[in-house]
Amino acid sequence: MDLDAFIDAMDACGVRAVCICAGAGLILEEASRADGVRRANAVLAEACARHPGRWFAYLLVHPTVVDEALRLIATHAGDPHVIGVGELLPTGHFRGHACDLPAMREIAMLAGDHGLPLNIHTGDAASLGQVEWLIRAAPRTTVILAHAAGAMVAQGLKLLMAHERIWMDLSAHGWKPGIRKPLLAYTDKRRFLFGSDVPIFHRRSAVEAFAGMRFAPEDYARIASLNAETLFPKLTSSRSHPWTTPSLARSIRTSTSSRRRGRPHTAHPRR
Ligand SMILES: [Zn+2]
Repeated sequence: MDLDAFIDAMDACGVRAVCICAGAGLILEEASRADGVRRANAVLAEACARHPGRWFAYLLVHPTVVDEALRLIATHAGDPHVIGVGELLPTGHFRGHACDLPAMREIAMLAGDHGLPLNIHTGDAASLGQVEWLIRAAPRTTVILAHAAGAMVAQGLKLLMAHERIWMDLSAHGWKPGIRKPLLAYTDKRRFLFGSDVPIFHRRSAVEAFAGMRFAPEDYARIASLNAETLFPKLTSSRSHPWTTPSLARSIRTSTSSRRRGRPHTAHPRR
């Protein structure tokens, strides 16, 4: 991916900062080796260093090399660009690794001790069951359900209600019409985060789908910016970028009102 072009796209659609993680291919092929995770995290760190205050990253770890995972968390939790750990792929989806194992508990506990949320892929009921095991096993750790606004939205919301340290990333595979109703009906949107799943999905479709959810304006501000700033204090402690307004939410409002007036809107990134 062309990082500078991506920054241009962020500027064009009013996105101040993004949180990235290593791609699923890397997780599957390289992350089960210590040198693989080291290399992946070095790539992430280099990308974030090029655009301080704009790009932040999850540390990539893998339960099969648990000593390396614990070392990485202990060594890099304080790095200015590191905001969490993940994305972890539970078993039952792709070829991930079980999250209800002692090694995952150790990883989750240490991440929690350092204030780093775990980002866990949620693609099916088995993965949500593993998340629930983990949240009980590591009671100080926050867990983000990745892509929870997809097929598993009802089950994800149930977990959110049951555990106050569970958050929901709204990136979803296709944003099916059925997800809108349960998300809108869930009144407390302080633990919802906007997610795009870029580059698996194109960023334009992610923003358009989000705009089409027709959340209340204050909820757009929360989901697009304010909730993430609460969960990841490093997003706002960085002084390298002057923006403080929830600009993605603002640009989405501009986008939807322009569309209502029948004009082409400008909220989408340049391509
Ligand atoms: Zn995922």
